[in-house]
Amino acid sequence: MRIDVLTIFPKMLESPFSESLIARAIKNKIIELNIIDIRSFSKDRHKKVDDNPFGGGAGMVLKLEPIVSALKSIGVRKKNKFYKNSYKKPLVIYMSPQGKTLNASIIKNLSKFNHLAIVCGHYEGIDERIMNFIDTEISIGDYVLTGGEIPAMVLIDSVARMIPGVVKERESIINDSFYNGLLDYPHYTRPAVLGKLKTPAVLLSGDHKKIEKWRKQQSFIRTRKRRPDLIKKYNLEIKELTK
Ligand code: SAM
Repeated sequence: MRIDVLTIFPKMLESPFSESLIARAIKNKIIELNIIDIRSFSKDRHKKVDDNPFGGGAGMVLKLEPIVSALKSIGVRKKNKFYKNSYKKPLVIYMSPQGKTLNASIIKNLSKFNHLAIVCGHYEGIDERIMNFIDTEISIGDYVLTGGEIPAMVLIDSVARMIPGVVKERESIINDSFYNGLLDYPHYTRPAVLGKLKTPAVLLSGDHKKIEKWRKQQSFIRTRKRRPDLIKKYNLEIKELTK
């Protein structure tokens, strides 16, 4: 998958993707990550990318032209009904607190695309006319951050780990919280006993069937306790999960 990120603060995105699984996926060419500096598309003498809001008021607004030029440089054109199906282009996402809230289902869907372009806002946001180029707006929650860079990192990290080859063992993704609607079961590692703290005996039994059943039950019990909304949402049956 190719991911282009358009930002006025490119350095913010460097370090999170230079370590761990995503760095390896980039090295192995499973993911191609291009950080695009919006400022380099500014025609302004001082490389200005923001301006005062029309109508007055607090804060600055990111200007349209440099972002549109940056989008055009990666093949994005203004949306229109003719071009919609006839032109191969990235799915253009604007990170925005006003968008759909990111969740496991959106992440799974996004991981099927070959090319994503992610636009990061800043200050008061971007000149609204940018919407002519945006396919979807995505929020990481009902709160406001200073910029779209951290939300973009959240999106990239969560989408990347769904791509085959990024996380070595597929099983660990499938058992993760939310993947199948439940929270993950608890995990333990050596030592089996630490002072008074013990590991549940079943995990040391070597009986894989029993372990699998215990994990399913734990998953269900903690979801019911911590996130009853998920049980309702996915209409999960107690019998099904505890048998
Ligand atoms: N004035 C905007 C509003 O109230 O909707 C908020 C602007 S925010 C300070 C600046 C930028 O940060 C936004 O354009 C967006 O790109 C990003 N941002 C802030 N909070 C976000 C969130 N919860 N999810 C995704 N992006 C967010």
